[in-house]
Amino acid sequence: MSQKKTVRVRFAPSPTGYLHVGGARTALYNYLFAKQQGGQFLLRIEDTDEVRSTDESLRMVIEDLQWLGLKWDEGPNPETLADVGPCGPYRQSRRLEIYKKVADELINQGKAYYCFLKDEEIEKQREEALKEGRSPHVQSPYEDMPAAEALAKIKAGEKAVVRFKTKHLKKDYKFTDYVRGEVTFPSDMVGDFVLLRSGGMPVYNFCCAVDDHMMGITHVLRAEEHLPNTLRQLMIYEAMNWEIPRFGHMSLILDEDRKKLSKRKGATSCHEFKMEGYLPGALKNFIALLGWTHPEEKEIIPEEELIAKFSVDRLHPSGAVFDAVKLKWMNGQYLRAMDEAELWKLVEPFLARESLELPSDQEWRKKSLQAFKPAMETLVDAIPLYRLLSDKSYALQPEADEVFQWEPTRKVLETWKALVSTEPSDVISEERFLQLQDMVKDQAQVKGKFLFMPIRVAVIGKPHGTELKILVPLMKKKSLVDRVDICLKKLG
Ligand code: GLU
Repeated sequence: MSQKKTVRVRFAPSPTGYLHVGGARTALYNYLFAKQQGGQFLLRIEDTDEVRSTDESLRMVIEDLQWLGLKWDEGPNPETLADVGPCGPYRQSRRLEIYKKVADELINQGKAYYCFLKDEEIEKQREEALKEGRSPHVQSPYEDMPAAEALAKIKAGEKAVVRFKTKHLKKDYKFTDYVRGEVTFPSDMVGDFVLLRSGGMPVYNFCCAVDDHMMGITHVLRAEEHLPNTLRQLMIYEAMNWEIPRFGHMSLILDEDRKKLSKRKGATSCHEFKMEGYLPGALKNFIALLGWTHPEEKEIIPEEELIAKFSVDRLHPSGAVFDAVKLKWMNGQYLRAMDEAELWKLVEPFLARESLELPSDQEWRKKSLQAFKPAMETLVDAIPLYRLLSDKSYALQPEADEVFQWEPTRKVLETWKALVSTEPSDVISEERFLQLQDMVKDQAQVKGKFLFMPIRVAVIGKPHGTELKILVPLMKKKSLVDRVDICLKKLG
């Protein structure tokens, strides 16, 4: 009986900066699949594009993956970037020897060859082929040159790439994709393609196939844009007599206009969402649903359930629309479900940037978050709310000007100040605030906006905004008196 192979999947970014939601989805699906199957999730760095793939951009990807909580079993250590796992190095730029060895093997077997064609010659061939209506595949005069002869030319200083030979492969390549179903590629879709550039740097399709094999990858779940690459990779697998992994190519992520999601329409990297106050759990839940549905079509799905319920059968082939409104709603759900002490830890860094003056006792923090949570969808939403409570930020807004023109305003403010000042307790409860407001109404003989708006201005500096019965219980008596004094001073 054949033993079931341990599932091994990988996320293989080419680091160019923070993690895009598309990449995050690829990483997430692979992670969920590995967890569910009791397998391993690898992080492989495809950094053969030497210019853009810096350590800094690698750190950016790693930071986002960690923020999302997608831990890998093998790959670079998140702090030191040192390789962890038995199949390293996990950075392609450090595996050049390995690719060279496989290329040599293919050359020795006559399945690849050194090609000395110059760029201008290739371009000329292409133009002629197009003019004559032929496919623009390279026709290399070097495909049958004996390796020894080619090596002698290289030794003499000539530059050569290593090309994969396709002329014997006159057949269709078929495979079953988890998302696309049966896929067939005729071999003549590609011509002799490059495996190694003249400097020894491998081309994506080559190092990807080599690494997936050497790292024991059993399933390749990746973006739809890589579907055409699969043909070249299948050819390499076949030539090397390697077992072919299972593939699943995930649909595109689209914006609301059904165009490919792009930066121009708002945040697209995990880092941006983090800075905009989204919670990693909410973003993960949202991203999981971009191309996959829960068997009972549930929307709020905690990570353990995502792991339990994820299945490649439920990945859909049509483009997934990124609905920013839904993401915000979902974030609000996650945020409100959080315990206040935990939520405070996430809110605090956002408030710290604003240098607000706020009480620091736990009880107050809890009370304030209980009051503000219903009005928050993202962590950033906390900033304007807490700003209202910070004395340093209290200022009369231009919208308040009109209120100062009203005849009863002075009386309202004076009565409010007198009542607040003589309150025995340092903090005024919601109930007490409503009583005080009624007392102002009776004593100053005003009602409606002439009552409410001056008090509002005296508390928050403007006549509209968050309800005072929520805010006042979060403030100290002294703050309330200092603020109404500022208003009275303006009246002169
Ligand atoms: N480095 C490729 C990318 O970032 C990965 C492709 C693959 O998963 O095979 O798109």
